[in-house]
Order: sequence, then C-alpha cells, then structure tokens
Amino acid sequence: MSSFIPVSEPLITLDDINYVQKVLTEGWASGEGPYVSEFEDKMSKLCKRTQGISVSNGTAALEILIHSLNLGPGDEVILPSFTIISCLTQILRSGATPIFVDSDAQTWNMDVDEVVNSITERTKLIILVHIYGLPVDMDPILKVAEDLGIPVIEDAAEAHGLTYKGEPCGSFGLASTFSFFANKNITTGEGGMVLTNDLALGQQLKSLKNLAHHPAQRFSHEVLGWNLRMTAYQCALGTSQLVRLDSILKKRNEIARFYREAFETFDSVQLPLEKTEYAVNNYWVFGMVLSPDKFESSKGIQQSLNELGIGSRPFFQPLHKQPLLGHFGLSKQRPLPNSEYLGRYGFYIPNGLGISDYQLNTVAEKVGKLIS
Ligand SMILES: *Cc1c(COP(=O)(O)O)cnc(C)c1O
Repeated sequence: MSSFIPVSEPLITLDDINYVQKVLTEGWASGEGPYVSEFEDKMSKLCKRTQGISVSNGTAALEILIHSLNLGPGDEVILPSFTIISCLTQILRSGATPIFVDSDAQTWNMDVDEVVNSITERTKLIILVHIYGLPVDMDPILKVAEDLGIPVIEDAAEAHGLTYKGEPCGSFGLASTFSFFANKNITTGEGGMVLTNDLALGQQLKSLKNLAHHPAQRFSHEVLGWNLRMTAYQCALGTSQLVRLDSILKKRNEIARFYREAFETFDSVQLPLEKTEYAVNNYWVFGMVLSPDKFESSKGIQQSLNELGIGSRPFFQPLHKQPLLGHFGLSKQRPLPNSEYLGRYGFYIPNGLGISDYQLNTVAEKVGKLIS
C-alpha cells in the first residue's frame, strides 16, 4: 500500500461486508426486492418522508426529478453557481434557462436574498443545494416559493444527517435528492435517491427509473423512461452504513476539530464556519479558502500537497463560467464574485473516515508549512 493520504476514502466495515454478503447469498443481486425497499424506507424515515426512490447515482436522482417537472424553453430555474454540474444538466437538456445566484462568502451556500430577488413569473423551480456541511438558510425561500406556488427541491447529496433548525435536511420542499457516492457520508460506492411525500410524484419516478413499463402490461410503453435502478447489494451497503451514521458524523467532527485547532491562528486561510443561527456544520468535507492577498489561487498549494503525498480537491468551479453554456446560447452571464472567489481559492484536505492520527498530524504539519 502506498503512503499517499487520499482526500477521502470510504470506510467499509466487516458489518457492511457481512450484510452485503447475506443479501447476495440470498440471491438478491438486481435492483428489486426487499433490500431495495429496506434502504428506501430507512432513508425516508431519516428524512421524515413517506417515499424513497433509489436510483443509480445522485446525478440521476436530480435528473429524473427535474425531468418530472416538465420544464421547457422559457421556463427559469434558480440554482447556485457554486455547485456540481449534476444540478444543471437536466435544466439544459429540457431547454429551460438556468438563473445562477451567487454564494455567501462565509457559509459558501447560495445567497438567500439573491434567490428571492431572482424570482420572476417565469420561475418554475428553485434548487437548494447544501454545501460542504452547512445547509442553505431555507425558510425565507420556502415561504416566498410557497406563496407563489413555485416548487422547491433540495439537493442533499452532501447533507446526510445534517439538520436545519433541528429538522433533517432532505425533509424540505417538494422532494429532495441524495447521493451515495464513495466520498459521501453514507456510501454505496455509487447510488442515489429521491425522497418525497407526494405519492403521485413518487409513483411517476419509480416508473421512470424502471423503463416505464405500462402498469397493466409489462413490456408495453406509453412513456419514455430510463433504467436507473440501484442494485439490492448496494442498497444493503447503504442500510448497513445508516446504522453507523452518528459515529460517521462524530468522526468527521473530530477531524474538523483537529484541523480547526491546527489552522485557526493562520490569517492566510478562511476556515469553514462552525455554525450559523440555523445549523451546526457537520463537515462533510474540510474546506479552506486561501487569502487572495497571499496566493494566486489554490492550484500551487494543491500541487505541492500532491508532491508531498497528500490528496486534496479544488472547490467547485462556478457553473455560470462553464464553457458548455456556450452550446446553449447561455455564455453571457453576469459576474458572481463570491462563487468565482471560492472556485479559485478554495480546496479541501483529507478527512476520510479511515484516516489515522498519524496521517492527520502529517496533513496539519505540511499544510501549515505551505500556508504560513
Ligand atoms: C456528489 C453530489 C452530487 C452528485 O452525486 P453523484 O452520485 O456523484 O452523481 C450532486 N449534488 C451534489 C451537491 C453533490 O455533492
């Protein structure tokens, strides 16, 4: 094994492996059966929803959910610029117009006032994305959206176990989506889910992810669907991991406390907020933003860390600057200074659940030298 310290490594325990083995031994390999429902039910319960629809990844969850809202040319969708491309793909495919909002420089989440001010009579959807362990301040947006009848969805891919004013992220708005990619708090390697209380929407999504067979006649099709099924053994891994969610979050918190202590005296970096009025950071990643006075960008430090055997990742690169917008006639976008600043100066450092104290010390020491 190499001594490289990866930015994030999933922790798969013997209990996880035993449960997956049990499910496979019973013959549940495909995307059907009791172990799929079990994971869907457990996730729904975690987020106080009535329905869970498992899919093959978090991007797919966003895509079929947004597809089900029947957007088209002329419709506007409000979303943060500072997020992953997965939030944007289906908006573009549907021909709707993305309306990008900037982020708050401290919470790194979408700016609530900007969201509210961006609403027009063409707004057909608002996508709230919780970033790096802190939630969006949702209440003001949910209130305005409800008054105007605009659907709101929550991308909670980074927010397993996170709460907003004491209520679970993933429980707000029309529906929420999760990812279970290898670096998320709960992982199944690849996997995703939509959660909702809307029975009709849930049934529609269940059909869409499973080739949209006609309910009365299998292999007969009235609707164009996909195969986005998540396998039973992936679901089993998720169920097994969910049992450990509290200890997973505790470990992330310990790592973050260690890094905070190591770096809090440096004025060359901005650390994540520990909490806001409405939430406590659960540190899905440990991000840092370099001071523009001292650094060109995060690239140099990330390169040096890599040479020292330490993994890191840049922050999201803002969506409103993505070259692909040009193919959709959307290349003209107003500047969003905070998103651009976060994308340029932000990066995150190793916080995998299996990281050792020795590795943490190594990271703190090497990062400390580079930012001092
Ligand atoms: C990881 C992530 C996704 C995408 O999930 P995949 O399972 O990798 O497709 C979507 N949104 C956010 C905010 C994410 O962090």
